[in-house]
Amino acid sequence: MMIYADNAATTKMSSTAIRAMLPYMDQVYGNPSSLHTAGQQAAEALQSARERIAVCLGCQPREIYFTSGGSEADNQALISAAKIGERKGKKHIISTAFEHHAVLHTLQGLEKQGFEVELLPVGEAGTVTAQQVADAIRDDTCLVSVMYANNEIGSVLPVGEIGKVCRERGVVFHTDAVQAAGHLPIDVREQCIDLLSLSAHKFHGPKGIGVLYARQGLTLTTLIAGGAQERGKRAGTENIPAIMGMAAALEEACAHMENNARAVSALRDKLIAGLSKIPHSALNGDPVHRLPGNVSFCFEGIEGESLLLLLDAKGICASSGSACTSGSLDPSHVLLAIGRPHEVAHGSLRLSLCHWNTEEEVDEMLRVIPQVVEYLRNMSPMWKDQKSGKRTFVL
Ligand SMILES: *Cc1c(COP(=O)(O)O)cnc(C)c1O
Repeated sequence: MMIYADNAATTKMSSTAIRAMLPYMDQVYGNPSSLHTAGQQAAEALQSARERIAVCLGCQPREIYFTSGGSEADNQALISAAKIGERKGKKHIISTAFEHHAVLHTLQGLEKQGFEVELLPVGEAGTVTAQQVADAIRDDTCLVSVMYANNEIGSVLPVGEIGKVCRERGVVFHTDAVQAAGHLPIDVREQCIDLLSLSAHKFHGPKGIGVLYARQGLTLTTLIAGGAQERGKRAGTENIPAIMGMAAALEEACAHMENNARAVSALRDKLIAGLSKIPHSALNGDPVHRLPGNVSFCFEGIEGESLLLLLDAKGICASSGSACTSGSLDPSHVLLAIGRPHEVAHGSLRLSLCHWNTEEEVDEMLRVIPQVVEYLRNMSPMWKDQKSGKRTFVL
């Protein structure tokens, strides 16, 4: 038996999404830019996908731009808003310390171009308030970018309130909603969102496809030049099978959102309650405003990497933080941002669940994880020093 508990890294595709893709590989395979019937059939499919996705987000079809995924959508959103700001002489950007690297590294690039980037602290619970954003906005602020939900620690941020503040102050608001789309309600009008990124493979759709929603009137900067696809803002022949798979997956996720969230959060809460009994451990992220499937812990005295390898040997696929930072020895910037000391940040574990996980799997994880944590602690010199009082416990 393999337990897959790494749905924040990527998800298994739903059979609905797979079935929705197949006809666009061998039947309707034309290029939507072609004038002939085969091309026009593909163009119609593309338009229908755009309309269906727009309904899920509460926007107009013409406000949907297809991208290669969440990273590209984040890059294009931030660069576009920065260019718009620059033309008005506004070069101050507000974001948070625990964004995904697709946002943080793009912001570093903008800093090199003379933008001033202010990263708001996220506190111990890992969140920012609308008041923090309001206090940070200046006359020369051109962009606020705050993620909807954090991919490592699961905190859900008050994007609707932040959107309202930005709208009142006339500042463009982008949200990286890659972890939220298909899992939490999105209504870009009501939440006053100007730019939003999502990625299909985080809600049981295919990999390599995503959406940038851009409110009408916001001129996007072209990152990929070439043909006139996506209203001239993103060249390249459209990946129709993936787009159809994404539309089907998003509709399915939105249709079952409440039921899935209820079931998954019950599993999450059982896991959190069980793992909290491990001594010298701490839950990461906001305990209340939390993604339905996210369980994130720090265990003192162990190495997250060793924990992952031992769990994998016992059939449990988990993560120590984000898939992107695994393989590097630096502790996660997210855990450091919520104030975990380096040595504690190294002992992190993220389990991310979906509606296909079962209560039996949760019971199995609750049987295995405490054993493995204890096994690793008994081998750790740091743990021995702490037990003997030579070194103090942090958690
Ligand atoms: C996965 C993820 C991304 C990147 O999306 P890709 O489609 O893999 O490029 C960006 N932001 C967040 C919060 C994510 O979880």
